[in-house]
Amino acid sequence: MNKYLVTLGLFFFMLGGVLSAPTAFAAWQPTLRVGLLTGQSSVILTAQGVSADLVSDQQTEPVKNIGTGRSLTIERDGSSFVLDGRRIPGQTLTLRAANPKQAEFLYVEVNGRPYRGEVELSLRGNGMTVVNVVRTEDYVRGTAPEEMPPTWPRAAVEAQAVATRTFALKSRGRHKGEGFDICTTTHCQVYKGMRSEQAETNRAVDATYGQVLEYQGKLIDALFHTDSGGMTENSEDVWGSRVPYLRAATEVQQRTQSWSKDIPASTLVQHFQRKGKIGTLKEIRLSPLAFGKASADRTVSGRVKKLQLVGSQGSVQVTGDELRNAFGLRSTLFAVRLSQGVVHIIGYGWGHGLGLSQWGAKAWAAQLDYKGILAHYYQGTQLVPLYKK
Ligand SMILES: [Zn+2]
Repeated sequence: MNKYLVTLGLFFFMLGGVLSAPTAFAAWQPTLRVGLLTGQSSVILTAQGVSADLVSDQQTEPVKNIGTGRSLTIERDGSSFVLDGRRIPGQTLTLRAANPKQAEFLYVEVNGRPYRGEVELSLRGNGMTVVNVVRTEDYVRGTAPEEMPPTWPRAAVEAQAVATRTFALKSRGRHKGEGFDICTTTHCQVYKGMRSEQAETNRAVDATYGQVLEYQGKLIDALFHTDSGGMTENSEDVWGSRVPYLRAATEVQQRTQSWSKDIPASTLVQHFQRKGKIGTLKEIRLSPLAFGKASADRTVSGRVKKLQLVGSQGSVQVTGDELRNAFGLRSTLFAVRLSQGVVHIIGYGWGHGLGLSQWGAKAWAAQLDYKGILAHYYQGTQLVPLYKK
């Protein structure tokens, strides 16, 4: 299930990128620069679909034209690109459709793996960085199946497609220093190109074409996670800052995706003794788990804010996040019991708990359409057509 997990990042530091639709082109849609590879000494590019030109940023004429199915091996030598034993001037080389009107039919294999759109190589560090310049809809077609099983209910897959699209557009510029917008791992969203595409997801992407979530006219941070376990979370209880649309939302079911972990009390004490003397662990103070009712040591969703380790020599306070990170717990929604020198942890859900819960969306799909699911998890937001077919 790891590929369905999106780790929480510093989204407030992301540069959103201002989107404005030129009115002259009805079919306009934004492109995304996705960083596929870095530090490469040699890359094989194959044109597919239509013939392609390799163009340099320092040359007006194309460096080379290749027909569909033909490949180029581009190497880095010193401070230059090398093709067919010849140095090519330029800082970037781009393989793009020879006829701009056929751009939507081009896909490029990078070392044998196909990606829709153009591929750009740039000289960076001691190697080459490979960027896929891809239309947003094609990116979502490749990404959404990696985030949610395509066979899930249609409304859930459609909601995921909107979240994936919104998240990607909001993330533009996140890797600006490296020369691209977004990476291909869970740091941003998992993207493996065309091979991930599935008919069911393609239908969901088409059904929600160009639609994004906004709050007060701006793209939102459309966070999602695998399963809330019973209730999603208020942003301030995860990030420390309040986001008006990331509020705790109820689920159809509670105590879902249960998990457990046993930790020897001595291991727990050893890990947290830097915070103060504990000695032999005698008691763990934590309120019982209750959904929808906050307490001093739990959030409104029931997640653990903090707990007290009480020992023979003293006691220390540990946050739910500290415990989760230290022992790889799936969530901070858990109860603990100390018995015969072992700390038994029983928990629910998987992920940070912010925004859309994927398993939750699957359950809601029995009674809500994708618009209803999105309105439920991203409160007070508007579903907006950013661009149209
Ligand atoms: Zn990233």
